[in-house]
This record gives sequence, C-alpha cells and structure tokens, in this order.
Amino acid sequence: MRVGIVGAGISGLVTAWLVDQECTAVLLEARSRIGGNARSAAGCVENVLGVFDLGTQEIAADDSSAHAALMAAVGIDAHQLIDVPSSHTFSMDGNALLVDDCPGRPAHVGRGPLWEQTRSFLDSVPDLPDRDVPFGAVVESLSPPPAVRDHVLSALPAALFACPVAQVVGLPAHVVLTYLSSVANDEPSTVRVLRGGMESLAWALAARLTTTEVRTGAGVDRVERTADGYALIDTEGHHRVVEQLVLTVPPPTAARLLPASMTGPGAPWHVLRRFAYRPVRYALHLDPAYLPGDRDLWSTYNLISHDGWAESSFWYGPSHGVDVFKSQITHRSAQPRRVLATSTFHALTPTTDLVDAQRALAALQGREGLHFAGHYTTGLGDQESAIASAAAVARRITPGSARLRHLPAP
Ligand SMILES: Cc1cc2nc3c(=O)[nH]c(=O)nc-3n(C[C@H](O)[C@H](O)[C@H](O)COP(=O)(O)OP(=O)(O)OC[C@H]3O[C@@H](n4cnc5c(N)ncnc54)[C@H](O)[C@@H]3O)c2cc1C
Repeated sequence: MRVGIVGAGISGLVTAWLVDQECTAVLLEARSRIGGNARSAAGCVENVLGVFDLGTQEIAADDSSAHAALMAAVGIDAHQLIDVPSSHTFSMDGNALLVDDCPGRPAHVGRGPLWEQTRSFLDSVPDLPDRDVPFGAVVESLSPPPAVRDHVLSALPAALFACPVAQVVGLPAHVVLTYLSSVANDEPSTVRVLRGGMESLAWALAARLTTTEVRTGAGVDRVERTADGYALIDTEGHHRVVEQLVLTVPPPTAARLLPASMTGPGAPWHVLRRFAYRPVRYALHLDPAYLPGDRDLWSTYNLISHDGWAESSFWYGPSHGVDVFKSQITHRSAQPRRVLATSTFHALTPTTDLVDAQRALAALQGREGLHFAGHYTTGLGDQESAIASAAAVARRITPGSARLRHLPAP
C-alpha cells in the first residue's frame, strides 16, 4: 500500500512516523522546512546559545499525555524539557491591571487593581458549561466589571485566537474558561517548553522515517481521483499516485485541494468550510517593546489591550534566562526595534460550531481512502489534538503499527 501525506506539520509527521515501516509513504510539504507551525530559531544571546520558538512553543505540563509519550518514543528525554511558570501581566495604556504571582517576583509587587475581581469571577463560574454555550452567556449571568471583562477575561482569548476583543463573547465558554483557568491563581500553573525548540520534535520524527520519502518545497497544487486512489500533483508538476491520502494541511487548503468530484452535497468540502482561521504575525526580538517599564512586573505572558485587540509578548527569561521576547505584532502601532525573526501564521478560531464540525468531519473519515488529520479535527486545536488526530488516522490505515502502542489509547 502506498500512502500520500500532504503537510509536514506535527500531524503530518506523526502520521508518517506511525504508518512508516508498515507501508511506503510520501510526505509532501510546501515550505522549505518541516514542522509547520513549529518554527524555531537558534541564536546566541547574552552569551547564551538558545533556541527560541516563533510559533508553537509549549504544552501543558499536567495535561499532555500524548505529547509526552511521543517525545519519549522519539528519544527526547526529560533534560530537554523546561517547566515554566504560567504567569501573566495584563496592561493597558502603560498601566499594569493584573500581575500574577510567580517565583522570583519581589514580595512588595502588588497584584494590580483587577486581580481580586478576576479571581472572584473565575471562582463564581459553577462548572464548565456545555460546548455550545457562548462565553457571553457566562459573562451576562455573572456581570464582571467591564474593565475585567474587556482587559483580562477577553484579552487572553483574543490574543490566543487572534480575534478582536469584542468577538470573544461569541466563542465557546468551555474553551475560553479552560485557558482562563491559569490566570489569577495563588500558585501559577506550569507549561513545558522544549530546550531545542518545538521544531526539534519535527526533526526527531523525520529522522526515524525509513519507508517514507519526505519532500520539502513540494506544495501540492491539486489532487485528482484515479481508478484506485489519488494522484497528487505538486507545484512543479510532478505526479505521485497513492492509494490512501491523508490531508494534514489547514482546512481551507484541504478544501481547495479536493477533487471537483468530491465537493458535492454531503462531501468533506462543506465541513472543511466550517473551520475559521485568522492571520497572526509574530516577531522574536531583543528589546522589551511591549513589557511594563518596571521589570518587577514582567511575567511569562504579557498582554496589552489596545484599539479593540489584545496582543501577547512571551518573555524567554523564565525558561531560557535571557531577555528574548516573542510578540504578536499584527496590530501594534510600533514595531520592535531589535528583531531576530518574524513569521506569519493562521490561528484557528474556536467557534461554537467547532465541536459539531469536528463530529461531522469524523463521520466522513476514511471514505474513499481519504483521511484528514490536524489540530483542528479534534479537541481544542492544540498539539495534543494534532497528535491524537494522526493516531486516529494511523489506526485506520495501519492498525498493526507497533508505534501506535507508544501513544495513549483513544
Ligand atoms: C502561532 C501559533 C502558535 C501555537 N502555539 C501552540 C502551542 O504553544 N501549543 C499548542 O499545543 N498548540 C499551539 N498552536 C496550535 C496547533 O496545535 C499547533 O500549531 C500545531 O503544531 C499544528 O500542527 P498541524 O500539523 O495540525 O498543522 P500545521 O503546523 O499548520 O501544518 C500544516 C503543514 O501543511 C503545509 N502545507 C500547507 N499547504 C500545503 C500544500 N498545498 N502542500 C503541502 N503542504 C502544505 C504547511 O506548510 C504546514 O507545514 C499554535 C498555533 C499557532 C498558529
């Protein structure tokens, strides 16, 4: 059996790693590098050699079993992981409104005027609401002060999902509250970053492929149906014929690639159109352009609300010991001055339709040898989702794969 995998992000690479040795496969990637949203840059800063992530950078320390199992299986050991306190500083107009406690912060630093009200709101939420309840319904029932609503509760999701602050009330409450649970805690929760950058996981996976051909700079331009499978035609005009096809590209691209014969009523094309994305631009930089003037107020995540948007700046000090910052710069009025790298991504918007769209796509999986993997197909759209989606596809294509045993059962 020959399997075609389109897209070498984490879901395409995990799919390839799982089906490898059980069949021959070809993995086609449009960019010149593998990794997808895992894009890491190496540099020597303040005499420290470090690898800094521009895109995907972290996993939850206590809730990432698939990621942890995968890293162990490809030989990334505990020494490669750095646990970082998930502390936040929310600011507006140069004023810090909420400052989370975190190790190393001097005791005299106050928590800011909105800390108690934010905590009180989060403590009042009874249980995680049903999946189709919008965050606005929770806000309406608990009526937090407008400053808390706009500059804290809506700011973090607006930055995470790259959407306007005003649109956060329309997002699913269970998703928004899951992310807000790390804010205004007496003890900061922990996230985990990879010393070698998230791209190192991509390389570790690729290095273990034996029966899979990996081609970068080979964007698939179109897909045609053949008698017993699919022909993948890349932008250079090369044809590759496969029996099973796994699309791990973002859904707007997957929809565009589908053969015309597969766009009729009930076809995946209609479901793929239900997933929404927004562009977001990031910079790695050395000047603390978007952090409070007082260094004691710096957190791992520093968020500023401005002009109806909220944008984050991740400080690498707590993880790497150097003043490197990864900031969203899509809507900033002033750009950072000492820039190391920039990159544009597309972030999934978790609409209240997300779970239904995921279910509808799941019902179509595997039909006519066509599979979809990717962070958007299941869960919250994070790396756990990407890995779980790849495992689900591999269980259908190569159920006997020994590597499947490394990952948690579904
Ligand atoms: C900026 C950003 C930061 C994120 N940070 C985190 C985080 O810290 N933790 C977390 O858990 N999740 C994070 N996510 C969410 C998401 O789970 C991860 O980005 C995950 O790595 C996505 O993997 P994927 O394989 O599903 O998709 P992608 O990484 O998007 O991979 C898709 C691949 O397909 C390729 N491609 C596209 N079109 C074609 C074509 N026509 N032919 C061939 N190849 C094509 C792309 O170049 C890309 O390499 C983040 C998302 C974004 C946008």
